[in-house]
Amino acid sequence: MIDIDKNYQLIKEEILKSQTKEDVIIIGVSKYVSDETVKKAIELGINNFGENRVDNYLRRKKLFPNVVWHLIGTLQTRKVKDVINEVDYFHALDRLKLAEKINKRADRIINCFLQVNVSEEKTKHGIKIEEVNEFLGTIKNYSKLKIVGLMTMAPNTDDENIIKNYFKKLKELQLNIKLKKLSYAPCEYLSMGMSNDYNIALRTGTTHIRIGTSLLGNDINNN
Ligand SMILES: *Cc1c(COP(=O)(O)O)cnc(C)c1O
Repeated sequence: MIDIDKNYQLIKEEILKSQTKEDVIIIGVSKYVSDETVKKAIELGINNFGENRVDNYLRRKKLFPNVVWHLIGTLQTRKVKDVINEVDYFHALDRLKLAEKINKRADRIINCFLQVNVSEEKTKHGIKIEEVNEFLGTIKNYSKLKIVGLMTMAPNTDDENIIKNYFKKLKELQLNIKLKKLSYAPCEYLSMGMSNDYNIALRTGTTHIRIGTSLLGNDINNN
């Protein structure tokens, strides 16, 4: 039996130990666990959750409407209409076509993180670092989009220094955008750090960590 409370306390201790100046939001990524486990986590005080697939996202949000829900996975353009108005935060805005579609289908302002492919691995989604400013310029008239932050996935490596360097680069970019005080892109947040690398992310100034296995465990095998 996984001890979610113990994991939760440990992650909170790591946040304190990292001496980060940021208020860090812990997102419990629930894609590997049952409804029962989500319920237990909510009872323990976890109040931000993430799902990466549209069908699971919608089901869980309906089941547990009193917590904050983050859609963290790649979104196919044709599924935008099914989910976008149910999204509290969307972490994977990674292309112009998707931005256009969200702007068209949204009934209200949607909080989005731009997904940035810092390591430029072919297998990863996201906008390249040097293309971010141009992207922001293009979407600035999309009135339904609010770019609240940047998101990234760490590269596939065990080398902590490489991961740290990528995280630092994204922090720098986030601060640069934030300083511009753009109304459509306040960019106050940074979504980086998962089970295996959240400690590095905490030490490089992340504001949101997305943790599945190390917080909630893995009690279903549908993914
Ligand atoms: C699954 C997933 C996570 C969490 O993964 P763990 O390694 O289990 O913490 C975080 N972010 C995204 C985008 C994911 O798909």
